[in-house]
Parts: sequence; C-alpha cells; structure tokens
Amino acid sequence: MKTNDRLIVITGASSGFGMELAKEFAKDGYPLLLLARRIEKMEALNLPNSMCRKVDVTNKEEFEAAVREAEAKYGKTDLIVNNAGVMLLGDIASQDAKEWKTMLDVNVMGVMNGMQIVMNDMKERKTGTIINVSSIAGVQPFGNHGAYCASKFGVTGLTRVARGEMSPYNVRVLSIMPGAVGTELLEHTTDQNIIDGYNQWKESVGAVNITANDVARTIKYSYELPQAVSLREIIITDTKQD
Ligand code: NDP
Repeated sequence: MKTNDRLIVITGASSGFGMELAKEFAKDGYPLLLLARRIEKMEALNLPNSMCRKVDVTNKEEFEAAVREAEAKYGKTDLIVNNAGVMLLGDIASQDAKEWKTMLDVNVMGVMNGMQIVMNDMKERKTGTIINVSSIAGVQPFGNHGAYCASKFGVTGLTRVARGEMSPYNVRVLSIMPGAVGTELLEHTTDQNIIDGYNQWKESVGAVNITANDVARTIKYSYELPQAVSLREIIITDTKQD
C-alpha cells in the first residue's frame, strides 16, 4: 500500500497471531507499527516499511506516543488490531487476584486504550477499521477461565458498543473470536495441572490443526473487504473443536 493514511497498528506483534499478521500485511507492503514488550522479537522479523516499538498496552501514554510517531512517518492509522493479550488460567476460588488484574488490565484496558488512541482521527476522516481480538471465551464459558472469560466477554461487549458509536462515521469495529490455537498463550499459566489438562483436552478433540497464520489471514481478509462491508463478529475455530 503506497498512499498516505494507511498505517496499520498491530499490538502483540512479538508472537502468535500478531506476528503472523505482521508478516502477512508486510507481504503486501502496508506500513506497519508493531507493538509489544519484546521488541527484539519484532525487530528480528526485519519487515520492510515497519516501525517496532517496545510498548506495554496498559500504559496509554507510551502506547499513544508510539502511534503518533508512526503516524508522523507513515500517515494516519487506517487499521488497529488490538491483539495483545494474556491468559492465566485458574479457578475463581483460589486464583491469585494479581492474575485477574493482569488479564483485565491487558485484555480490556489495553484494548480500550488502543481504541481511544485512534477513534477521534478515524471519526474525523470518516473511515478506518478497529479489530479487537476477543476469543470464543468471549461468548462461551470454559472451566478455569473465570477472569479470562470476564476479560474477553468484556472485549465482546465493548466492541459492540464501539461499533454503535463509530458506525455513523463509517468506521468499522469488528471482533474476532478464535478457539484454541497453538501459540505461546497457554505458557503463562502458572498452574501446571491446568496446562496439562488443557493440552489433554486439545489432544482428545484433535483441535490442534488450525494455525496462528489461519487466524491472521482471516483478520487480513476482513480488513481488505470494502469499507462498506463489516464482518462484525467472526468466530473461528478448528473444525474439530466443539
Ligand atoms: P501469544 O502469547 O503468542 O501472543 C500474545 C502477544 O501479546 C505477545 O506478542 C505479547 O508480547 C503481547 N502482550 C502481552 N501482554 C502485553 C502487554 N502488556 N503489552 C503489550 N503487549 C503484550 O498469544 P496469541 O497470539 O494466541 O494471542 C493473541 C490474542 O489472541 C490474545 O488477545 C489472546 O487472548 C487471543 N486469543 C488466543 C487464542 C489462542 O488459542 N491462541 C484463542 C482466542 C483468543 P510481549 O510479551 O512481547 O509483550
């Protein structure tokens, strides 16, 4: 993409869906701002026409500063993918509340920060797309996913509200809700029994074939549809997942 005002911002671009998405968009020459805490992982991708910044999405000031810096170089943001997220599984009766707070801060506040940073310019320009990465756990309960479900149901809800706020301005607000996909996401859970149980479940249903790249290509597809077409909510899972 060679015109101004076509910047794509991707949070959580240092692994998983975000990294695959960065690679897919880079193939078509889109200008990219890649954000996450592990900047070395994003820089190692060595993608053309891209800026990488170490940003914690819960810190709105540093998040916004990176977006403004990239916009000064590449033009206004046309797409933000609020993808950064954490999943720390645990049962509600015993999980440490610090883990709840981490999930709510990153998965909900991080997404709201990203939306607020771009919304006013998009309203003014009367175009733009916001894609929030929710989860199938944003519409369906799963055991040991209490705070994670709270955060992702939150993303589903706030995305619906934002769609109502932005549709009069011709701005698309979508959410994508993936099922289980093998990425680093599960690795941060601190309870090994839960990790083992999750992996056993994945093996038992055979839901291991869908890839992060499949999810990334779906996000890209939804963006590249004409601005008049809004794929409001996408649930994407391995075919074998119940
Ligand atoms: P990964 O763990 O591979 O990627 C998560 C990304 O989020 C990393 O790039 C990480 O980067 C970034 N991140 C985490 N915390 C912060 C923070 N505070 N500030 C900035 N970046 C942060 O997992 P996935 O690719 O699977 O997850 C991407 C999204 O998809 C998440 O929102 C997740 O909840 C959602 N999802 C994933 C599913 C799956 O099965 N994989 C299913 C449904 C939804 P760094 O650590 O470098 O900051």
